[in-house]
Amino acid sequence: MGIIDGKALSSKLRGEIAAGVAALKKESGVTPGLGVVLAGDNPASVSYVTAKEKACTEAGMFSREIRLPGDATQEEIVGAVRNLADDPAIHGILVQLPLPPHVDAKAVIASIPPEKDVDGFTPVNGGRMLSGEKCFLPCTPHGILKLIEFAGMETKGRRAVVIGRSNIVGRPVSILLSRKGVDATVTLCHTATRDVAAYTRDADIVVVAAGRPGVLTGDMIKPGCVVIDVGVNRVPDATKPKGYRLAGDADFESCAKKAGAITPVPGGVGPMTITMLLWNVLEAAKAAAKR
Ligand code: NAP
Repeated sequence: MGIIDGKALSSKLRGEIAAGVAALKKESGVTPGLGVVLAGDNPASVSYVTAKEKACTEAGMFSREIRLPGDATQEEIVGAVRNLADDPAIHGILVQLPLPPHVDAKAVIASIPPEKDVDGFTPVNGGRMLSGEKCFLPCTPHGILKLIEFAGMETKGRRAVVIGRSNIVGRPVSILLSRKGVDATVTLCHTATRDVAAYTRDADIVVVAAGRPGVLTGDMIKPGCVVIDVGVNRVPDATKPKGYRLAGDADFESCAKKAGAITPVPGGVGPMTITMLLWNVLEAAKAAAKR
């Protein structure tokens, strides 16, 4: 069994992105810029935004944050997006989710111009992805594809099972895996699926994004398969200073014994998400430099 080291792949790709940023600056004088809208002070959101901005700086990009109070109106949040959309130094816009409950998050996301939609969450990007057109791929699903490739797993003609159908992970992963050129045969499982194990036992690739620990166990998988564990769950653990530890959706111990390769949690999918965001910001800046 091999551990798919998301940190190592991420660091390799970030090196390539930083080189791309330096080359773009030299050739066209353009420095890729990420604009971030953050409403409220949810500690997890603040820490995600801080990590994304730090990663931008390390790659030679810059970031501009518009921070609004948690009671900001929908109009104020859309206004912040427009402000970044009108700023020629900003090539990618990220609205940190979740937005406060009184805000229509879909409407805010839809206000991001598609050419600056580096999270790939707008309906325009989603439609382009569905029809196989060039677009910004959503970061976590894109990172998952890179991890499967890094694990040395050929996707063409292989059976893939995705557990979870959310709009940000499971469904786009299923679409990307079945795309022409990737060519896996995909089954998408969810809570109404009868006997998930009947599908996973036949799969060469299992992507589990259910948000529940232990959804995938070793007895449910085929020997030698690749397991990509997207879940991030806090599991009570009295031996840890914080009283919990992080665990994925797969039972690591039993799955690792049987899988050919598996991502750990943490250190698997997690580091790839920010890396693929940087990738998209660089792509957006390159496209802007050409225009
Ligand atoms: P989500 O919106 O809660 O969706 C979970 C999906 O899993 C749903 O489609 C649900 O089915 C399905 N599901 C839940 N339990 C199941 C079970 N026992 N059997 C089959 N299907 C089941 O979650 P999400 O946003 O996709 O996130 C999934 C996990 O990934 C979370 O732990 C999240 O924290 C993590 N995540 C990590 C990253 C990263 O960068 N590492 C990024 C995003 C998310 P129904 O549709 O039928 O309810």
